Amino acid sequence: MAVSIGLVAQHIEKLAPKYWAEEWDNVGLLVGSGSTPVERILIALDGTLEVIEEAKDFGAQLIVAHHPIMFRPLKNLRSDNPAAKIPLTLFNYQIGYYAAHTNLDQSRLSSSITLGEILGLKELKLLEEQSYNSTEELRGYGVIGYLERPEPLEAVWQNFLERLLQSNSYAHPYNLTGVRLAGSLKKDIRKVAIVNGSGGRFVPKALFKGADLLITGDVDHHAVLDALEGGMAVGDLGHFLSEAPMLQALYYYLTSERSLQGIEFKVSSKNASPWL
Ligand SMILES: [Zn+2]
Repeated sequence: MAVSIGLVAQHIEKLAPKYWAEEWDNVGLLVGSGSTPVERILIALDGTLEVIEEAKDFGAQLIVAHHPIMFRPLKNLRSDNPAAKIPLTLFNYQIGYYAAHTNLDQSRLSSSITLGEILGLKELKLLEEQSYNSTEELRGYGVIGYLERPEPLEAVWQNFLERLLQSNSYAHPYNLTGVRLAGSLKKDIRKVAIVNGSGGRFVPKALFKGADLLITGDVDHHAVLDALEGGMAVGDLGHFLSEAPMLQALYYYLTSERSLQGIEFKVSSKNASPWL
């Protein structure tokens, strides 16, 4: 019997329940019907028109993405409105769209954890815990941990980027466009915080927890200055690269689910950093 979109959603929500998502977020099945049978699924970071075309060419009935579409309320469904064009195209192609965003960020598939492992951090802990009682599973945003031994910022960053490029195990090559570093290159780094996505708001938390370096994406000017004032360096991977490892993690999670065995999955090769 064919697997339904609803069953796929259940498996994702087993790992990243929808109620974990922030109030402002828009997660879950955003386009389509839970009862639609599914044979092929495209995993992507963003639901761009290019990604939707890729899903169509792949013969997918569903896109599982990290970033939601229809993030702000739609006021019309005109084809010349770029925000409306995405759901309209999905609807025309009969492709469903499922988003796991801030709920996935807090799960064990978060790229903060993957990036922490790539960097080889020890005593890895959550940077900001979100579980509110002792019966709830441990969850939260970002990680913090120690390097094996202190090393100058310059060496830590170079090694990390090399390992990150090597860690890519699917066809789409990571690239380093948009990658930036702020701090003194000779300063020894021992404790590192990592937050996937736009992590500028975690600068105070990382400083409070004594991080020498915060690795994240999309950090604005003022957040970088605050970090430097506090003696913490900032490595900005850009939004895409800081979250791309999550797509691979999601791929492994879904392909290892016994009841989803009949489905063919693919990680999008069309998503990339928009910076040249
Ligand atoms: Zn993101």
